[in-house]
Amino acid sequence: MTYNTDPDAAEYEARRLQALADYQILDTPEASAFDDLVEVLSLICEAPIAIVNFIDRDRQWFKSVKGLAVRETPRDISICAHAILQRGLFIVPDTTLDPRFASNPLVTGDPHLRFYAGALLESRDGYPLGTLCVLDYRPRELSERQRFALQALANQVMAHMELMYAHREQVELISELEATRNELAKLATTDPLTGLLNRRAFEQRLDQEVSLIKRGAPPAALMLIDLDHFKTVNDTLGHKAGDEVIVRFTELCREAFRQADVIGRWGGDEFMVMLPRSSVVEAWHAAERLHQLLAITPMRDNDTPACFSTASIGVCSLNGSGNMEECLHRTDELLYRAKELGRNRTVCESEGTPSPP
Ligand code: GH3
Ligand code: MG
Repeated sequence: MTYNTDPDAAEYEARRLQALADYQILDTPEASAFDDLVEVLSLICEAPIAIVNFIDRDRQWFKSVKGLAVRETPRDISICAHAILQRGLFIVPDTTLDPRFASNPLVTGDPHLRFYAGALLESRDGYPLGTLCVLDYRPRELSERQRFALQALANQVMAHMELMYAHREQVELISELEATRNELAKLATTDPLTGLLNRRAFEQRLDQEVSLIKRGAPPAALMLIDLDHFKTVNDTLGHKAGDEVIVRFTELCREAFRQADVIGRWGGDEFMVMLPRSSVVEAWHAAERLHQLLAITPMRDNDTPACFSTASIGVCSLNGSGNMEECLHRTDELLYRAKELGRNRTVCESEGTPSPP
């Protein structure tokens, strides 16, 4: 094959190949929509061979082919590669009489192609992508009606390609919209600093759980946690350091509680945890785990001396006896009591503060 070394031609060819790639047709499976068109073309033109053919960088690739047992051949022996150099129909009545094709191995050898007629397949922005063509083993011509049919069917090939393209774009758009919707839904329900549920989303989840419990689901426990003397962190180390402490605290919560427990940022340095199917005592054990983790985990890397935090916790039972607001109020009171009693502790409803087993 002789490559054109003209930089303009090379650039044009690169754009043409990109246009072809945009249709995402190369190396796709056979499809009945194209096979039917090829079959009809072969019938109308009374030709043994009919092809939907695309000219790739180094090969011609057949989306649909009747009468040949191959799906691609090298570009340098392609007759279609010449056909895409001009608009409209390209007809070679006798290949042996045309100096461009007389020595082509597909002409001199098997399958001894003698006749070619191709209609250009053109992209929407005018790039030649390939041809819809018919071939025969004998020299011949196409009638006026056959020429018309060849061009009309080529238009149909491109119309179908455009539909496939638009459909793919639509599918991509829908999945982008879906992703944006999910992202927005996530933003609406999560606290940006910690990635935990925000207050509104937590309340919704809590409301659902209360309804389930009222309809017979096992009781849950509700826990309100407030970091002790958190203002001091902000005041001494700065607001950014305070943010880091909140993030580290969130990590410790994830470690202390079960996967099924729902953790939410209630606001500022307050966190709410709902523990489904848990008694107050079970919740107290989880709170103890958190106290212990806080006691051994520096809240920021590279602080000297290391900075530790403590938290005060109120725990109440979510057993379906009151409404959500009442439960939240009770938990708040228990937390207040924990603060009053000297902080760094958990106060539980009715049972007070259980002793460790
Ligand atoms: P207490 O032991 O009584 O809980 O005292 P405290 O110092 O922790 O005070 P309190 O809980 O009343 O106040 C929490 C402070 O947390 C107030 C606010 O400036 C700070 N804060 C709230 N949200 C954020 C945040 O997102 N980042 C940082 N760095 N600080 C926050
Ligand atoms: Mg606090």
